Amino acid sequence: MPDPRSAASSGVEAEPSPAPRPAAEPLLRVENVVKRFPISRGIIFKRQIGQVHAVEGVSLEVPRGETLGLVGETGCGKSTLARCITRLYPLTSGRVVLDGTDISTLSRRQLRRHRRQMQMIFQDPYGSLNPRRRVGSIIGDPLAIHHVADGAGRKRQVQELMEVVGLNPEHYNRFPSEFSGGQRQRIGVARALALRPSLIVCDEPVSALDVSVQAQIINLLEDLQGEFGLTYLFIAHDLAVVEHVSDRVAVMYLGKIVEMAAVRDLFSSPRHPYTVALLSASMIADPDRARSTHRVVLAGDVPSPINPPSGCLFHTRCPKAQPICSVEAPALTVQAGDLAGHVTACHFPVAPGEQMRGAEAEVRQAAADFAAAPLGEAVEGAG
Ligand code: SF4
Repeated sequence: MPDPRSAASSGVEAEPSPAPRPAAEPLLRVENVVKRFPISRGIIFKRQIGQVHAVEGVSLEVPRGETLGLVGETGCGKSTLARCITRLYPLTSGRVVLDGTDISTLSRRQLRRHRRQMQMIFQDPYGSLNPRRRVGSIIGDPLAIHHVADGAGRKRQVQELMEVVGLNPEHYNRFPSEFSGGQRQRIGVARALALRPSLIVCDEPVSALDVSVQAQIINLLEDLQGEFGLTYLFIAHDLAVVEHVSDRVAVMYLGKIVEMAAVRDLFSSPRHPYTVALLSASMIADPDRARSTHRVVLAGDVPSPINPPSGCLFHTRCPKAQPICSVEAPALTVQAGDLAGHVTACHFPVAPGEQMRGAEAEVRQAAADFAAAPLGEAVEGAG
């Protein structure tokens, strides 16, 4: 596929690309990013009554050509972090350095040329495409906005992109409703690829798709990474998908990264109690591994990000919590015996081979009490 950034064929003057950086520098560096959303009350005289702590001091790096998987329960701040990195949300504090440039303080105008380097693929292939616009113009939007190509040149580039992602270029004039879910996500991938970005933030790109279609899209993303040297930040809650696509994995809980490691280290030797619980609750395809995996049930609900707990954010649900955990927040550090690069935020990390006990007994007892109670009492108790 010819470089879509080339404007020579279209006669349109392209914006200058940022100067390339030394190869050793990570493509993306996120430094202590904080994102809080104010909660206001009142219509005319608005006053702030609180704030949602969506992302709290996240730091990470993604080297060029690699995939960093980002996992955690729904509402843990993964998508907010993705939107902070791509500057769809302004940061409350912290820095996002893309290819050596701090983009967190750039104006909209300054940000424009850096946006070409990073694109997003969204979760919902149905909602993220305008149903009234033809596929050709949807995929060609970035080329038009960034003055990369117009007229026949743009159409040619869009049709080449459609071919690259496995769509029939003759369907250029069709509407999104004429495509299946998987094909619509291919349209989203083609749109993200149009400016030949270095970084693509994939925000749950397959979670709305059927399992068989998920595999096709994942294979497509892997092929494109090999072909174009793309770097991915891959957000998902399906751990099997993350294990398959990632080089490194970061686990988020209530807006913070609690563990980060190379994919093999994290899946074979998780150290944070939350990671252990998360892995034990996921579907495991290998029957031997599934049989030997001890299921850890966590007690309680995820605390509110409006009023997060003190100390370690996980202490209200952690089976290993000690008094210090509610007072002192653990730092993200390399634990004894771990490889460099495997960092965990925990005062009492799970030892390799340790069987962590969850709240199974409590949950079983609660279920037994519920089943034994007369119907009226059980319903009342459930409320
Ligand atoms: Fe559990 Fe304490 Fe570790 Fe937090 S610091 S995960 S509460 S053991």
